[in-house]
Amino acid sequence: MKVLVTGGTGYIGSHTIVELLDNNYDVVCIDNFINSKPEVLDKIKEITGKEITFYEGDVCDKQILRQIFTDNNIDAVIHFAGLKAVGESVRVPLKYYRNNIDSTLSLLEVMGEYNCKKLVFSSSATVYGKPKSLPIKEDFPLSTTNPYGATKLMIENILRDIYVSDKDWSIAVLRYFNPIGAHSSGLIGENPNDIPNNLMPYIIKVATGEYQKLNIFGNDYDTVDGTGVRDYIHVVDLALGHLKALEKIDKDNGIDFYNLGTGHGFSVLELVNTFSKVNKVDVPYEICDRRPGDIDACYADPSYAKEKLNWQAEKNIEDMCRDSYNFVNRK
Ligand code: NAD
Ligand code: UDP
Repeated sequence: MKVLVTGGTGYIGSHTIVELLDNNYDVVCIDNFINSKPEVLDKIKEITGKEITFYEGDVCDKQILRQIFTDNNIDAVIHFAGLKAVGESVRVPLKYYRNNIDSTLSLLEVMGEYNCKKLVFSSSATVYGKPKSLPIKEDFPLSTTNPYGATKLMIENILRDIYVSDKDWSIAVLRYFNPIGAHSSGLIGENPNDIPNNLMPYIIKVATGEYQKLNIFGNDYDTVDGTGVRDYIHVVDLALGHLKALEKIDKDNGIDFYNLGTGHGFSVLELVNTFSKVNKVDVPYEICDRRPGDIDACYADPSYAKEKLNWQAEKNIEDMCRDSYNFVNRK
């Protein structure tokens, strides 16, 4: 099976390409390096010993997409390309709507032209807004609190409409919880160019001494120790979920939505303490005000993915902390 991976040099995309290659898929990738680096391609080759076909370009650009589909007999697409920084999306919403929506529309139009109708899409737990209860199930009400989340929900709705209009489509929408960790080789991982928004990249910068301390956004939430609780999932487990989703869309038409999480919530303090213990490194922190828009707790009920995709997360929080740090220490 030949799979087009958009945004494949990014964090989750690169780990997914490694698993695809290890499982003998042919991989074609497009990325414009807006949030990743070309070196990732060498690392993928170093890990797998295999080549992919790579196009540098923008997924909004239908010409390059047509070129890709003309040059390659693409069977299915995994669509990672998108901007993902929540805070930036509030400051510059049009950049997010333009990039995330436009790229998806271009991709879907060109897929239709080439009669390629199998798609795995990267959505997010952010589409649940402030969940009514926990754990979160796929049929919970959907809402968003920022432009980034709005793009994900809009795309989910576009995909629903496409399937209503044409039952030949086969679409898996994967709602990721909080991916952290890195490949066990230490060769690929999360490497943000700017100041990190997310917790684990920030912890790493403190652990390596680049930043003096972690700001913990609030310790008065209704959680085990007052700090925010999230469902952290190892990026390799997440990557493997995409292979299961591919198998599913290859078999059955339709559109379906899956939570990819572990089902376990960890607080900020629990994550920081585990990171310190596993890696034997100090992570100084200070309790600060809550971050606007944050919810107290968020974790998945992942049972639907287990039932329908035969997928579940295998790695634990210690693995995630160890592999995240191993990636920066190896570089
Ligand atoms: P990432 O930024 O590391 O990877 C995204 C990749 O897409 C980057 O390599 C970037 O250069 C590329 N890209 C962006 N816009 C593009 C365009 N128009 N044309 C070509 N390439 C483009 O992000 P990630 O963490 O790997 O996330 C992948 C997907 O998963 C994104 O859609 C993101 O919104 C979604 N997601 C991520 C998380 C998370 O916490 N990492 C959680 C939920 C959902
Ligand atoms: N967080 C924090 N300090 C940081 C970044 C995040 O205390 O520098 C907290 C945040 O308030 C939340 C948790 O860590 O409770 C996870 O935040 P992240 O941005 O990684 O994920 P999201 O909130 O988008 O699920």
